[in-house]
Amino acid sequence: MNFINSAPRPVVGGTPTTQASKGPYLELSMYKEVPTGEISLEEFEEYALDRLRVLKAIEEAKLRSKSEDTIQADVETLLKKHMQGSSRQQTYRKDVLSHHILRLAYCRTADLRSWLLAQEALLFKFRFKALGRQQQVEFFSSMGLPYHAISDAEFEDLAGQLAAVLNACGEWDKAKAVTSSSRRGDTHGLQDIGRAGAAAAAAASSRPLFYKVPFQAVPDLVGSRRVLLRAGQAYVGEDQAYVGEDQVYSLVVGAFRSCLSASLAEAARAWGAFSAAEADRLAPLVDSLPSRSVYGSDNRKVPVGEISAGQLAGLVAGRHFPLCMSVMYERLASEHHLKHWGLQQFSLFLKSIGLPLEQALLFFRQQFAARTPGDKFNKEYAYNVRYNYGQEGKRQDWSEWSCVKIINQEVGGACAGAGECNGGCPYKTYSAEQLRAALSRLNCNDKVIREVVDKARGKHYQLACGLAFEGITGSPQETGINKPSEYYASSIELATQRAAAAAGANGAGAQQGQQQQQGQQAGGGAVQPQQQGGAPQTPAGQRAVAAGTPA
Ligand code: SF4
Repeated sequence: MNFINSAPRPVVGGTPTTQASKGPYLELSMYKEVPTGEISLEEFEEYALDRLRVLKAIEEAKLRSKSEDTIQADVETLLKKHMQGSSRQQTYRKDVLSHHILRLAYCRTADLRSWLLAQEALLFKFRFKALGRQQQVEFFSSMGLPYHAISDAEFEDLAGQLAAVLNACGEWDKAKAVTSSSRRGDTHGLQDIGRAGAAAAAAASSRPLFYKVPFQAVPDLVGSRRVLLRAGQAYVGEDQAYVGEDQVYSLVVGAFRSCLSASLAEAARAWGAFSAAEADRLAPLVDSLPSRSVYGSDNRKVPVGEISAGQLAGLVAGRHFPLCMSVMYERLASEHHLKHWGLQQFSLFLKSIGLPLEQALLFFRQQFAARTPGDKFNKEYAYNVRYNYGQEGKRQDWSEWSCVKIINQEVGGACAGAGECNGGCPYKTYSAEQLRAALSRLNCNDKVIREVVDKARGKHYQLACGLAFEGITGSPQETGINKPSEYYASSIELATQRAAAAAGANGAGAQQGQQQQQGQQAGGGAVQPQQQGGAPQTPAGQRAVAAGTPA
């Protein structure tokens, strides 16, 4: 399949062919060639979402400042869970295809390109690091780059000078290792075995490994005189670090990044033709990938059971709504109106948390009443609400918007300024000052506010939202927030658990039979007032259970 020039046919089976499939590194590729072959539409979507799961988990781990070793272990688990096929060949096929599908999906804007570039480079780095020493050396050679591990003979020739440079940099242990390896004299006689053989032998031996690279590839090391230079070549130690990153890894990842960056630019140029040719089939699917939630229905708990319009005020006061929705609720209450996208975003969220259509119409009619008479509301706004509930137009059961969609939605001004609200994510649209004020109203302490503002400033809006959840509830939101209803579900679940625990504790001194009865009632979902910092009662009958698309 060529994703750009020819459309894939939806046929099950087929194996893509690429240059790397002939080589020994089925698990790691530079993805230089577009794969050809056939793939079913189901596989197409599944592969893309599985790779996104891996990339988003790595991004989150990085942003949570997990250590490199922890992320390295996480990546291994993630790859096993999401990317492993039934055979080595199938695993490789999934890897290559999923990479190219995402390349297409993320080529359209500078933001999308830069996100994919950053995450793919991280994934590539961790996978490269997981290779054995010999595989790394051979992969280096197979990349077609002018970087090569030096042979034992060259090492013997240069050992004295390499040790001198290391000594001058204060790397005494490494210098000592170079000198003692050279003195062992067990590395002679390799001059004639060719570059690949020399590299393999170098990797197999226990002596320090050095790569020979053009000096302009390592300007930082050259500038700080931390590397031996000879005939325009710099001799870089395998674990030679500069500004916190192993130089060898940054060389290989740098090569990967420039290759992917050029491919993304090329895909962006070809996107127009592709989307026109595939307007009815692949283009909408590819187009939707960046805004898709990557969590399956079993990963999230959405409370089931109906809530009424009368309970919404209590839920907002109880801080169960994410900031985007509580802002919208408050702005609706003060302005008695929402702009189009605001109404869409908010009504779909209310639907997803269990507000039935009649109650939604009642709620919006009441809220709009001060500015919009009933008959005008019925004509101009009720249709949209009914449409979202699948009662008008296509009669489709629309799902709530994901955070990615809300964040990426261009809704000029959103709720950042005064006046009517048009939706959006406050962590993106608010200024630092507005965010501080909003979080302070939610009783977040200064430390939390600082962290949230930092994350928002770094454009990590969903993480900022997760941190705010932690600041508001005092409990971490481990699974991440991908939809506003997930925030709500986590908050309700936590409140329910706390109420059940409180009911159990209160009943400890009372009669045993009554205690059990009370505990069962609380566990069934009726959260008592004043738990979670004054949170009001949660909707009777709602309890957190695994659920998929909001009903
Ligand atoms: Fe709403 Fe998602 Fe933004 Fe949180 S991250 S405020 S849930 S859009």
